[in-house]
Amino acid sequence: MEEKVKGSCLCGEVQSTMQGPFNKFYQCYCDRCQKKSGSAFASLIFTSFDKISWKSGQALVKRYDLPNAERFSNCFCVNCGSQVPYVSRDGNFLIIPAGYLDDDPKIAPSANIFWDEKPCWFEQGQKATTHVSYPV
Ligand SMILES: [Zn+2]
Ligand SMILES: [Zn+2]
Repeated sequence: MEEKVKGSCLCGEVQSTMQGPFNKFYQCYCDRCQKKSGSAFASLIFTSFDKISWKSGQALVKRYDLPNAERFSNCFCVNCGSQVPYVSRDGNFLIIPAGYLDDDPKIAPSANIFWDEKPCWFEQGQKATTHVSYPV
């Protein structure tokens, strides 16, 4: 079943629609994804390159291809810094940062990759107390 999923950046200038169903959903703990996300891992959904229609803000998307890497890229809205979807350097895949999506992607993460590179505080963080808002 084909399904359209909407996505937008934090400031709302960049907007697009992605056509599901999606192929893969990985959580990547590599050092590079920690840098680009500012967090323990990047949540990345993969599909084929042509599954995106841009609605607005494409001119605000800045692409950075890490020079010494074979495939690592970071694409983000220059207005708010949010990661946005991009086509892989070989042109084959669309990579969608899961947090960019406004709708249910109808796929769940199936693998934690580059697991040995996860930050030293990650497992303790999983056991930390939970709160619906800021802790008092
Ligand atoms: Zn933005
Ligand atoms: Zn990674």
